[in-house]
Amino acid sequence: MERLLLLIPTTSYRVSDFLAAADELGVDVVVGSNERSVLEEFADGGTVTLDLADPAKGTEEIVAYARERPLAAIVGVDDETTVLAATASAALDLPHNAPESVAAARDKFRFRTMLANAGPRSPAFRLLSVDDDARRAAREQTFPCVLKPLSLAASRGVIRADDAAGFVAAFARIGAILRSPDVAGLGDAAEAILVEDYIPGVEVALEALLVGGRLNVLALFDKPDPLEGPFFEETIYVTPSRLAAATQESIVAETTRAVAALGLHDGPVHAELRVNDRGPWVIELAARSIGGLCSRVLRFGAGVRLEELILRHALGLPIESLEREQRPAGVMMIPTPKAGILRAVHGLDEARGVAGIDEVTISIAIGREVIPPPEGYRYLGFLFARADTPEAAEAALREAHACLDFDIEPAESG
Ligand code: ADP
Repeated sequence: MERLLLLIPTTSYRVSDFLAAADELGVDVVVGSNERSVLEEFADGGTVTLDLADPAKGTEEIVAYARERPLAAIVGVDDETTVLAATASAALDLPHNAPESVAAARDKFRFRTMLANAGPRSPAFRLLSVDDDARRAAREQTFPCVLKPLSLAASRGVIRADDAAGFVAAFARIGAILRSPDVAGLGDAAEAILVEDYIPGVEVALEALLVGGRLNVLALFDKPDPLEGPFFEETIYVTPSRLAAATQESIVAETTRAVAALGLHDGPVHAELRVNDRGPWVIELAARSIGGLCSRVLRFGAGVRLEELILRHALGLPIESLEREQRPAGVMMIPTPKAGILRAVHGLDEARGVAGIDEVTISIAIGREVIPPPEGYRYLGFLFARADTPEAAEAALREAHACLDFDIEPAESG
């Protein structure tokens, strides 16, 4: 049986879905992660502890492992492991995207630079050091703008500023996030802040699988809640998109141009775009699949999960269908109403009972701290819906969300 190495950071939501897909496929999966304690949960499968933060070291460890137990493919799950998957695949001569392309998708400044040089629509942007004088930088800025860290995810540290005072405050707030202990592994990326012109418009997310350079659309999601800042907490995604067919085509075309600009040619991509009267703008393009537990809303062909498509593609196994099921579907990343300790969640049964709701999952344990954006980046939970129309799927998510009530107690400071 072919052996596949799945690189999964300890913080990933995706462990069980990828392992279930591997199980369904009958492939021999080894989980590579950064902490032994997490690995032990999967003790029956093979596990290996790797340095996920340092691609050079992680690659050496993977090459050494593969000498004993040859690998047929390496799949990086989540942003933290995509670069290592590419560098280790290159070292072992396995099919892979160019490590430079994947690295550019991981660094918002490199990404913006490559796009601006290659032609896709791009906002004006500039790179500041966390040590720069924010007041002076604000004087040279046009507004509104968006300040963001280079390599964080889930909108962590992404802040809109409408004037100089907002700019200075956002700059300081992002600086503090970049000094948090869990961000230390970012290295140089923790030393800089990217500033971009704010792009108005409606936002969509495009999920696709690149096969030999061809972009296959898996799903286009509308984001019906306005995302106008100052923070950009994700909420509802609904597919299929209700945008006009021509607009949808232009979104796919612009994403294809961005993919070509980066030089990505195989594997999953997840893009966020904004659309306004000038057309679609790529906000972000990641060489990975959709985050959180959102992939659970997608099924392909006869009910195949997204993770199985990704594993099949990585192993060169046949893929029966890349067509998403016909039924409209939606997912809500439950917003965090305030910071504190989660003491209880009420209304789960009512939420699960709403017509169209398939699943309600709370992903923060009772007793744990919850933090809203821009500092926080973990989702409170997820609601999943299926219905006859996208409107009905969206309505079911809103109705189920309204049933939920979260007891959040202020955390003791200090
Ligand atoms: P992350 O990788 O943390 O999700 P993004 O760069 O994708 O960071 O930004 C998160 C969200 O912030 C986007 O989905 C979008 O809603 C908003 N955003 C980011 N940059 C811009 C911009 N230049 N103009 C308007 N909105 C933006």
